[in-house]
Amino acid sequence: MELQFLGAATTVTGSQFLLTTSRAKVLIDCGMFQGNPHEAIRNRVPLAYDPAGIDALLLTHAHLDHCGLIPHVVAHGLRAPIFATSGTVELAGLVLLDSAKLQDEAARRNERFQRKHPDRAAKESTRDEADLRKATGEAAAADDEESAAESRDPEVTLRSQPPVVETSIDEPLYTLADTQAALKLFKAVGYDRETLVAPGVHATFLDAGHILGSAIIRVRVSDSDNAPEKIIVFSGDLGRHDTPIIRDPTPVSDADYLLIESTYGGREHEPQAEAVRILAETVQLVAEAKGVLLVPSFAIGRTQEVVWQLDRLLDEKKIPELPLYLDSPMASKATEIYRRHGEYYDQEMRELLAKREDPLDYPKQQITNDIESSRAISKAPRPYMIVASNGMLTGGRVVNHLRELIDDPTATLLFVVPDPFDQRFLGACRRIGIARLATRVQEAAAAACFHRPRRPRRAGRHRAEDPRTGFRRAHPEVA
Ligand SMILES: [Zn+2]
Repeated sequence: MELQFLGAATTVTGSQFLLTTSRAKVLIDCGMFQGNPHEAIRNRVPLAYDPAGIDALLLTHAHLDHCGLIPHVVAHGLRAPIFATSGTVELAGLVLLDSAKLQDEAARRNERFQRKHPDRAAKESTRDEADLRKATGEAAAADDEESAAESRDPEVTLRSQPPVVETSIDEPLYTLADTQAALKLFKAVGYDRETLVAPGVHATFLDAGHILGSAIIRVRVSDSDNAPEKIIVFSGDLGRHDTPIIRDPTPVSDADYLLIESTYGGREHEPQAEAVRILAETVQLVAEAKGVLLVPSFAIGRTQEVVWQLDRLLDEKKIPELPLYLDSPMASKATEIYRRHGEYYDQEMRELLAKREDPLDYPKQQITNDIESSRAISKAPRPYMIVASNGMLTGGRVVNHLRELIDDPTATLLFVVPDPFDQRFLGACRRIGIARLATRVQEAAAAACFHRPRRPRRAGRHRAEDPRTGFRRAHPEVA
């Protein structure tokens, strides 16, 4: 039995594991590498396995860094069933179709850029190719190291040479047709019910409390009929206890091997109550200043939580009723999917529904689906709030709002990003030409996020230089 780590190692995106037994090959997650161009180029590295030889793919949840490469692998021959909860099946459809569209748009933009600026395009393409060679070389070196450890065969070195890279970096990673073919392979499974997914491999999906449909996958596996069984638990991304809307993670007590998400490994999350208090206080301040509150948010999961929280605060009369612009078509569609899956709700959510409330709806919520209505938000009478994607500022409508509001003294930016020190986020601030935001966010955002990183507890030699030391509890005002 062998387990390979094909992504999300030394980085937080591109989750993918390959479990190989003498009678089956099972992939767990198939995520896209996201973030800066050096990171994203890893999506182009030739696959470490033959997709046609895979017997099953188990998907923990529908975020792109866990499912985003599925159509790419299908285009390269994967025909195996893809097991996921029905919530994940629906959300993954939304996410992957959008991803195919974005890639197509990016390829067209790239084509236009090449026509208009052939010199700059050639330079960028040389850089991308160098990145790709480097990433491919690194992947091969990792294999090489592994193989060398197992064998002294002189052919090993030869076999582990970087493969010739035939992918064109200018082409979309996959097309709409690839995505549609991939979606046909999805098979919905329920929580807590063990399913035989491949010869000798049984999987149970348990609540992960991260986003709708998210699962911890418990895999019971044996190499052959008489071989001893092993239990391997893949945590996927884990939610916090008391996460709104959906049930908390299921405790798992038996495992021979546990593969656990550790994105925010050494940090402690802010207690939920404190985060909610900051949200309420910020809304009040924005109302008093007759300003604008901009909340960059992820379309799936975080947006629904923020809207839910605002609606609760309103019910409890802790905030004034400001208009809310939900400026993310993807988030609106995701909310519809959340609405359809009452079977995943936690007790609190069920009680609210029993009182005939709609906790996923904020009363003065305006959904802006087209780009004209998104632009028109800036002319709306103040005060108001905008929740827009995406949370890392790596793209999406939030970037336009930010450009508009960056120098506005009555505008407040409230981050619900998990980590304002995340390099993806800081890199995005620099790329969109608001480098000063990156610096100021580092100075102020510690008070603003739902998951505020605390100063490391460890007293160390470098403590004085830690950029997080000395942060005051301040409101994250941009201007
Ligand atoms: Zn996730």
